[in-house]
Amino acid sequence: MSEKDALRTYRRKRDFGRTAEPRGEDTAPGNAPRFVVQIHDASRMHFDFRLEVDGVLKSWSVPKGPSTDPHDKRLAVPTEDHPLEYREFEGVIPKGEYGGGTVIVWDQGTYQPLSHDRRGRAVPFARSLEQGHATFRLDGTKLHGGYALTRFRGGGRSGGGRAGEEAWLLVKSGDDTATHDGHGTPDPHRARSARTGRTLRQVAEESGNGGGEA
Ligand code: MN
Repeated sequence: MSEKDALRTYRRKRDFGRTAEPRGEDTAPGNAPRFVVQIHDASRMHFDFRLEVDGVLKSWSVPKGPSTDPHDKRLAVPTEDHPLEYREFEGVIPKGEYGGGTVIVWDQGTYQPLSHDRRGRAVPFARSLEQGHATFRLDGTKLHGGYALTRFRGGGRSGGGRAGEEAWLLVKSGDDTATHDGHGTPDPHRARSARTGRTLRQVAEESGNGGGEA
């Protein structure tokens, strides 16, 4: 029995949107790479979309958040690579610090790279990102199915353009997991953590009230 199968019963008994217990994903190498979408109530509310690539979390700030509607082309601005452990971060970044504000893990899961070259051969995901177009399938708590990230500005010759000048689009693929009802993105104020079920407000309140105890 594989390690993955060994945890099947454990997982089936639990709703990981409601319990803080570990899901037990951080096991053997060779597992599917992970993704996380955090909601970050900073000076400007935004979603942070992160994909595990070669030992780091490649990251984009998505002001409106990922949509399940293929008609929504969502601006995604690259930010610095984050450590893998960041996918578990939920809490309050102190005011005045970089990114000060509350963070919740809105969605988490694994993804499957789908990029292929013209001959149908799989392209390493990192290279498809370098080339400015990557397709992948998400298997998250909330997000499912195909998505594409496409660079439409910046990203010139090696080292020629700073990451801050790049702009990408995050777009849902028109597959059977797509929606077309005009409600492809949740209200970030009402959205709940996929890890703890908490809203931004609840995380902020618990952080503010928890100072007295060790
Ligand atoms: Mn952020």
